[in-house]
Amino acid sequence: MLDLFFDIGAAHMSATVFEVLNPRTGTADFQFSAPSPSELSDQIARLRLHQQGWAASDIAQRANALAQFAQLISNDQALLDALILDTGRIAIAKLEVAAVVSSIKRWSADAPALLASARASGQAAIPGIRYQSFGVPFALVGVISPWNFPLLLSLIDTIPALLAGASVVVKPSEITPRFALRLNELIAQCKELSGVLHYFTGAGATGAALIELVDAVCFTGSVATGRNVLVACAKRMIPAFLELGGKDPLVILPGSEIARACDIALKSSVQSTGQACQSIERVYVHESQFDAFVALLVQKAKDISLNYPDIANGDLGPLIFAGQAQRIQLQLDDALAHGAKILCGGEIERHGGGYWLRPTVLINVRHEMLMMQEETFGPVIPVMAYSTLAQALSYANDSEFGLSAAVVGPDLQQALAFAEQLEVGAISINDAALTSFVFEAEKQAFKSSGLGASRMGAAGLTRFLRRKSLLIQSGAPLAFIGDRKAQI
Ligand code: NAD
Repeated sequence: MLDLFFDIGAAHMSATVFEVLNPRTGTADFQFSAPSPSELSDQIARLRLHQQGWAASDIAQRANALAQFAQLISNDQALLDALILDTGRIAIAKLEVAAVVSSIKRWSADAPALLASARASGQAAIPGIRYQSFGVPFALVGVISPWNFPLLLSLIDTIPALLAGASVVVKPSEITPRFALRLNELIAQCKELSGVLHYFTGAGATGAALIELVDAVCFTGSVATGRNVLVACAKRMIPAFLELGGKDPLVILPGSEIARACDIALKSSVQSTGQACQSIERVYVHESQFDAFVALLVQKAKDISLNYPDIANGDLGPLIFAGQAQRIQLQLDDALAHGAKILCGGEIERHGGGYWLRPTVLINVRHEMLMMQEETFGPVIPVMAYSTLAQALSYANDSEFGLSAAVVGPDLQQALAFAEQLEVGAISINDAALTSFVFEAEKQAFKSSGLGASRMGAAGLTRFLRRKSLLIQSGAPLAFIGDRKAQI
């Protein structure tokens, strides 16, 4: 067991002041305040007020305001520095900024047609009645986001919501709040945007308080918190768009090219130190190829390095959230106690005060183990052999999660036929974890991995519009229907 764990990465100093741990050093080098009830309600009133003009403005005007924001964040060293401190990594911090900028461009280009698609008019089947339908944005959307890609996941739903005409209030994770303070400064420099977008630092209580004040919630985080968010939204009768955890399987069909399958398994399990919802967390290989696959996987896994001591030199950053190290350790202990064998990695290392884990390959795993049931959120690759395709399918579908999956096959037809039977929302074929790069295709989370319309594809924006229709009578009003002269 590790010598020291933190249940939360942000420790209370007082009811509203929090200390934040640096993931590379383990020291509390940052503080933030949660808003008071009056700060919350003042900001919310301001966002609601400005939303009316924002929604009434031309879509080109909203896109211009976001283009100005994109320009500011793409050149801002202070924002990048804060994100690097939050996450302990450089390349992915830069990727987050680039992904947000391209998301603004993409949604801004698509928004005019998507907004137009919500408008319809026509003649009803009843003579003399016409209708006109259009989309009315939620006035205020609340976004609650996690710590694994702090900037990107705080804006992934925010950008389409703003373009749809909503105001947005964001509550990023208390584990990685540094970037949010800088972002608020940049938002303040964009005159129009500053009226309709604000970040509140805070922990779960602030997230819960926000749910009481908004008209729709976009939540990205764990299944456990997602359930609480869903209950709170249900009580207020407001929609909750939930993007939750996963336990994504990769199935390698018999006869697949082993070297390619290994590369796919490795990169998609350990990328971002495995701290991604779409990480591959279980690998199933046909028994005829199991030994060769595992030997090559271990060899390749050993080539992956930590970005320690030099953050600019190495592949994997630290575990961002100290509590995550504890969860991974529990799963490793449970797997070992039940007969699993670790072939490489497997030891949570302490360097410079942070928690680190090298790519960890396990065999002799079974579905009874926590490692095969719970989300791991670390660079851990449990590999299991199967003997028939039916067995592989049953293993892959044996999970409470249904976020996404991957299939590698010797030919496309076989891979597609297998993929269609998986109970998940998105399946990468002959690659893995493509969901973080493909924005065009709609996908929903299955099972406990989420709820609500897709954040990808057209629905990513149109879900923020409620449909409203005007039903226009041009003839005589429809007759009163009563039982006075009715016969059975
Ligand atoms: P978490 O559920 O602990 O916290 C997420 C957010 O919820 C934080 O901002 C937190 O302060 C807030 N929160 C906590 N309690 C709350 C409450 N009662 N009401 C409102 N808000 C509350 O999740 P995490 O540990 O920050 O993130 C990791 C999880 O996120 C993993 O399970 C991962 O798979 C998931 N995730 C999912 C996706 C996806 O797209 N499906 C993407 C990234 C991460």
